[in-house]
Amino acid sequence: MRYRRLGSTGLMVSEISFGTIPVLQGSVPVLPDYFNLTDHEAVAVMDHAFRLGCNLYDTAIVPEYGDAEKKLGKFAASINREKIIISDKARFFDGNEMYMAVLASCENLGTWPDIYFVHQADPAHEEEIFGKGGALDALCQLKQEGRIHFAGLASHYYDILLRGAGDGRVDVLQGSGNLLERGMLDRIQQEPSFRRKGLFINKVFAAGMLPRFFPVETLIKTVLSYPVSSALIGIGSIEQADQAMGWDTWNPKVFVPDFDQVVSVLEKDFLPIACNRCQRCRCPYGTEIHTIFRQYNYYYLGKDYWALRKLNMGIEHSAFMCRACTDMPCMSMCPAKIRIPDMIELADRLVNAHCP
Ligand code: SF4
Ligand code: SF4
Repeated sequence: MRYRRLGSTGLMVSEISFGTIPVLQGSVPVLPDYFNLTDHEAVAVMDHAFRLGCNLYDTAIVPEYGDAEKKLGKFAASINREKIIISDKARFFDGNEMYMAVLASCENLGTWPDIYFVHQADPAHEEEIFGKGGALDALCQLKQEGRIHFAGLASHYYDILLRGAGDGRVDVLQGSGNLLERGMLDRIQQEPSFRRKGLFINKVFAAGMLPRFFPVETLIKTVLSYPVSSALIGIGSIEQADQAMGWDTWNPKVFVPDFDQVVSVLEKDFLPIACNRCQRCRCPYGTEIHTIFRQYNYYYLGKDYWALRKLNMGIEHSAFMCRACTDMPCMSMCPAKIRIPDMIELADRLVNAHCP
């Protein structure tokens, strides 16, 4: 295992870190695959990763990741707590709620979280999070009280991460990306303000779907070729830990494919929308274009039920607006020159075919 500096925190984190979603037990239907592990089994998998050199474990407050937070606490108690870094999070945007959430997490873990993130920060809650008395102020207060060591901001939105990169209260950022959805990583690479912060990247396997098309080492090496601190991989078994963290067994000649090469591989299976999720396009009528294209591609990558359910929550309206849109301002913003309204129509047809 190799280690990287975590922004200006003074910490060194393993390049590959442990995402705890797969160890949860219970029913969390919106999440990707998990393995229903007992406490004992979960601790054994986390311990195996530790022996492979992993020192960073990421979780979320109960019940966002089921009981994973409590299991991570049990693992921390079974080893020297100081030897691992616990990254935790909660989807609360108001300062008081975030403060209470961190206290609840400390109780669930039975120890302190090193880093605590505002989870899934989105444009609808941006002002609340960054504003006076918001979640970031609460994390700063918790830092001063010594209950956490560092404050984090996790988001799927480039603009929110960029704002976090320029905010002195934020120590660590968490975003998503992989060799297909790499547009945000490309932009982060070009933006100097990100260099001051630690950065974790999740969705490296696109919710577990990309290993069907690309070797695991290719997926991980692609993300690590960017200026990130650690690639967060969801791990639910000893085999998965070995696969993700067993550098010794990796092909040293593994190469990082460019975006066109990635699309060519996928085209052997289906015709993807060649959107890298750079998030440069904007729709004045409220359509979140990159999210629709992601769900369309995820349908063919294997998350068909999940993708259809998400698409069905607004695609009809988006397609209707596109048909009435004459100036199509989104088109001139897309560096890939994707015919955005045509692709939205395609996604609408997909939903109509399966959800009449
Ligand atoms: S073409 Fe569609 S997505 Fe693009 S700006 Fe118009 S309504 Fe929005
Ligand atoms: S449609 Fe184009 S501009 Fe919008 S996210 Fe995709 S690649 Fe970027």
